[in-house]
Amino acid sequence: AGLPYIVGNWKMNGTRAMLSEARAVDRAAARFPKVQVGLAPPATLIFRMRDAVELIGVGGQDCRAEESGAYTGDISAPMLKDAGADFTILGHSERRTLHGESDAQVNAKAQAALGAGLAVILCVGETEAQRDAGEALAVVTGQLDGSCPRVDGAPEKLSIAYEPVWAIGTGRVPSIEDVAEMHAAIRAKLVALYGEGGADVRILYGGSVKAENAAELLSVPDVGGALVGGASLSAESFTAIIGAA
Ligand code: 13P
Repeated sequence: AGLPYIVGNWKMNGTRAMLSEARAVDRAAARFPKVQVGLAPPATLIFRMRDAVELIGVGGQDCRAEESGAYTGDISAPMLKDAGADFTILGHSERRTLHGESDAQVNAKAQAALGAGLAVILCVGETEAQRDAGEALAVVTGQLDGSCPRVDGAPEKLSIAYEPVWAIGTGRVPSIEDVAEMHAAIRAKLVALYGEGGADVRILYGGSVKAENAAELLSVPDVGGALVGGASLSAESFTAIIGAA
């Protein structure tokens, strides 16, 4: 469904000096018109990055569900939109773990983001202990049950990112069979939640995606793109992944 979608998550990396990487990614993206590209820099760079690039999408890494108020340090979905964001990542495992975000909170954030006109990349994924216990599919489909906003009709602006926690930043990736099994299970859950529209929701894979493994991962059925951490920090490595899509 749709073009392959390659998104870089810069996490807490990047000051203005890094905008040159975003510009280089933007220039490279012009060579790959059949790939949709996005970058999610720290919130402090969204506004400047939006001005610095033309083709690629710019996104946030989180938002708060409320529109405004006494929430020191937080940023709302309308604020991201106002800063020039096209999308936001939500429910990343680093938010779920380090900030204790629950499925219900992720769900409320997703509703707020979609309501503000942002596309959403909603992250799910099991820990290593959960996979070892044979619970990976149940954990991930349970996260989808709790985190997916119940919107009317096909959620056009929703993408899911499957990121096994144990594959993030470790250089380890699941087997192609395990990726295929999980993405098929996510697809089935999306169809159960959304009906026909669930067949069109893009499902990205994330976790140690590099230029060397991107083509194989992206060839798996129901893998519609990649959410890239470390390898998105340099235009050279990120462009190689875009080229593999
Ligand atoms: P790495 O690509 O560094 O493993 O990070 C994946 C990730 O968490 C993207 O959101």
